[in-house]
Amino acid sequence: MHTAPTMNQPAPCIAVVGSLNMDLVLRVRQAPGPGETVLADALQTLPGGKGGNQAVACARQGAQVHMFGRVGDDAHGRTLRAGLDADGIGHSGVQTDPVVCTGMAAITVDATAQNRIVVVPGANGRFVLDAAALDAALQQADCLVLQFETPLPQVLAAARRARAAGCPVLLNPSPIQPLPDALWPLLRTLVVNEVEAAVLMGSAVATPADAAVAVRALRALGPAQVVLTLGAAGAVAADETGCRHHPAPVVAAVDSTAAGDTFLGALAVALAQRQPLDAAVRAGIRAAALCVLQAGAQPSIPSRAAVVQSAQ
Ligand code: ADP
Repeated sequence: MHTAPTMNQPAPCIAVVGSLNMDLVLRVRQAPGPGETVLADALQTLPGGKGGNQAVACARQGAQVHMFGRVGDDAHGRTLRAGLDADGIGHSGVQTDPVVCTGMAAITVDATAQNRIVVVPGANGRFVLDAAALDAALQQADCLVLQFETPLPQVLAAARRARAAGCPVLLNPSPIQPLPDALWPLLRTLVVNEVEAAVLMGSAVATPADAAVAVRALRALGPAQVVLTLGAAGAVAADETGCRHHPAPVVAAVDSTAAGDTFLGALAVALAQRQPLDAAVRAGIRAAALCVLQAGAQPSIPSRAAVVQSAQ
């Protein structure tokens, strides 16, 4: 049965522990080579970071979101908080570091849309979990969303607390590094792209057939649900009922930035609403197909109303 999200389902509650960055996007004709200086045509400062993007994606799909992270005591930190406010995201769990600056990503985008990114972790690297604050949020939460842009021991600690509270954990291990053995059994859902899957598998993952092998193998390591996104080729998902490929619609994509985060947000919201994995993956694909139609990260993350309208 098709279980497309509707406007009148109750808002699920999602906790996100992750990074908050200010993206400095520099439009250049050609990125500088070694020792070279070039002039940029434009500079944009945009809220970003995987944690922030995924929190925004969840909120725009109708979830009540509580964000946990760390920013600096600076203008970028205040702007990021204001951005969370604008999306109705609770940020009492976002700490202010008195010493280190807000995380930043310097991104050059050249005339061929090729990007080069340098990330300064800043305050994200000094995030220390406030166990009591997270426990309070987990009492309400239908899902905890985690990535790897905050220190791994803190990610593991958050997953442990969620497990103890009976709250399902969804991990997007990006930027990819091998998962600590102790993390695997704490996961309900693992979401990876081809690159991340290849690192975890130790072999290339390019086709839906490769992805089917990978999701089964990764599922055997602990998570009940594994989803592998394949860009324009959609996603492959496995749970206890089997493994299926869900194609993405053919669209005139202009920028895939934040497509993965948008997919993850819509998937997390649908799972938090107790929808089956396949329906949740289709929700992710619908939302991400809208995201790739627009440039930028957070500005291109669609609202629930836009996704529902696109499905009609
Ligand atoms: P990531 O950004 O993490 O690498 P992907 O590139 O796999 O993630 O994209 C995530 C999802 O976004 C895909 O599963 C797909 O649903 C959607 N998507 C990405 N690129 C396109 C595209 N060109 N056309 C349609 N959907 C896309």
